[in-house]
Amino acid sequence: MLSYLHAFHAGNFADVHKHLGLFVALKLMQRKPTPIACFDTHGGSALYDLAGDKARKTGEAYAGVQRVWQRRATLEHELWPEVWGLIGGDPNEAALRYYPGSPAWLEGLRREQDSVTAFELHSNESSRLQQWAASTSVGVIAADGFRGLLSALPPREPRLFTLIDPPYEIKDDYARTADTLIRAWKRCRHGVYLVWYPVLPEAQFERMIEQVQGSPMTKVLRSQYLLDQPPERGMAGSGLLLVNPPWGWADAIQSMLGEIHASGAIAARHQLDWVVPE
Ligand code: SAM
Repeated sequence: MLSYLHAFHAGNFADVHKHLGLFVALKLMQRKPTPIACFDTHGGSALYDLAGDKARKTGEAYAGVQRVWQRRATLEHELWPEVWGLIGGDPNEAALRYYPGSPAWLEGLRREQDSVTAFELHSNESSRLQQWAASTSVGVIAADGFRGLLSALPPREPRLFTLIDPPYEIKDDYARTADTLIRAWKRCRHGVYLVWYPVLPEAQFERMIEQVQGSPMTKVLRSQYLLDQPPERGMAGSGLLLVNPPWGWADAIQSMLGEIHASGAIAARHQLDWVVPE
């Protein structure tokens, strides 16, 4: 029985890393007016109540986005105001009440010429996602996101942005992620693909990266956000693979995460390297 529910983790340090990565990538792609098809293979439910039981039970958002929100006056990068606008925090409040999931970040950035499609396999989550999406232009498909992405490629739009963000509850998710990424890239080589993975002691993510390195894919950047004091068990960090990074992505993410570290909001350091260069 699978039990992963993103509501327990929404707004944690890994979400801060992943959603800033998504935000910066799409923002930079939108410097050109050509339409972008955006896909989110594992959508979750799109809007999370940080005052709800699940968020309060783990307290992860309080060690993540809530601390960044509290120190926002010290963050200077030009993209921060838009990030806060997208999150929709009330400037008069010390804490955020709600936190957007990836479909909401994509919808927040969507221009008229872009499309957003989110997959979600599990029925409770997909119902919540569908309810949220009813007042948006996001297309929701209650189905397997790995297969769904492949059947949607190449898209009608000339450009592509894809987030692949499985729960990795099933160990097979690592191999399926790499396999789907490689097959998707073969169908749309100019697409920008963002893959999230947990940095865990068992290091299954390393096998996933080796699978990518053994493929014909090029231009794969790795961004790791590593906790200064990792717990004995559980995530030591958050990882992203970005295929075909838009120009300027590395500088922007490095400086935004660096500002967070300097502010004392999240004690994690950012590292960047090429898994497969050009
Ligand atoms: N991307 C979301 C965000 O950033 O806000 C979080 C997604 S959460 C890590 C993973 C989600 O994938 C869960 O809601 C889970 O129910 C869903 N899921 C699990 N297996 C799936 C599959 N094969 N296809 C689509 N969704 C799946």
